[in-house]
Amino acid sequence: MTSEHYPEPVPEQRTNSHVLIEGVGMVYEVSERPLPALEGIDLTVRRGEFVSVIGPSGCGKSTLLRIIGGLQSPTRGRVLIDGTPPREAQRRKQVGVVFQDPSLLPWRSVIENVRLPLQVNGGQAGKRTDGQRDYPERLIELVGLDAFRGYYPHQLSGGMQQRVALARCLVTSPSLLLMDEPFGSLDEITRSAMRYELLRVWRSEAAERDSTVIFVTHSITEAVLLSDRVVVMTPRPGRVAATLEIDLPRPRDEEVEVSESFLEYTRRLRALLRERSLA
Ligand code: ADP
Ligand code: MG
Repeated sequence: MTSEHYPEPVPEQRTNSHVLIEGVGMVYEVSERPLPALEGIDLTVRRGEFVSVIGPSGCGKSTLLRIIGGLQSPTRGRVLIDGTPPREAQRRKQVGVVFQDPSLLPWRSVIENVRLPLQVNGGQAGKRTDGQRDYPERLIELVGLDAFRGYYPHQLSGGMQQRVALARCLVTSPSLLLMDEPFGSLDEITRSAMRYELLRVWRSEAAERDSTVIFVTHSITEAVLLSDRVVVMTPRPGRVAATLEIDLPRPRDEEVEVSESFLEYTRRLRALLRERSLA
């Protein structure tokens, strides 16, 4: 559906393509029977692009995201991140992951949770300072939790915990963010606010290093609002059924949600999902 044309060839290290997914398939074994979860997934994600993956429950979105993040291996095909296998990118802390469950350590305060990725594996990778403050402190400010830096997870609301998870994911300065329904457990009002929060944080971070986001959701509004491109998946086995370019200006704010073109994109996406799931 989409064709990408680059004006001129660029050297290998600075190509526009950041994530390359080639012929990825995944077959699980369930009670000694094969369960095909993904088949023939081909997708190229450009550097700095915000791509959402949408589809009904069970179509393999989480499986695909875990494969991209190197958390599990596909049974077919391969994924390359900047030309390297996901596990290597993960080892170099180039990939940040946020799941639906913020999974914070309950015995660590907000600031200690955000610092955690810099401490595991004795890793100093990605450690940097930003003027007078260190980067974790700045990230906490960026996600609006300055006043809560010493609080513990149980003292925070769900939305605040998810912001801590976002700050923690950014602390190693990953160039690729993988998010699996990160706002899925939040109420609609908080969820809507978090979308804009994410766009703001991504913009301020992306300005620095062009970070790419792959975002899993089953919300049509969320996919249109956030993305440059939406990938529609269908189940049994999970395949890419269509992709939709979202050509809305950035930065995006509440105004965009009531614009005619926004509504048109949501209509098209809804139609694609309906069409493909009936096929
Ligand atoms: P989604 O995130 O779109 O809801 P998943 O990737 O979680 O989809 O699941 C896709 C399919 O693979 C489902 O049928 C699910 O039951 C199956 N599946 C997912 N993870 C496993 C696993 N670890 N073992 C066996 N089957 C799995
Ligand atoms: Mg899932």
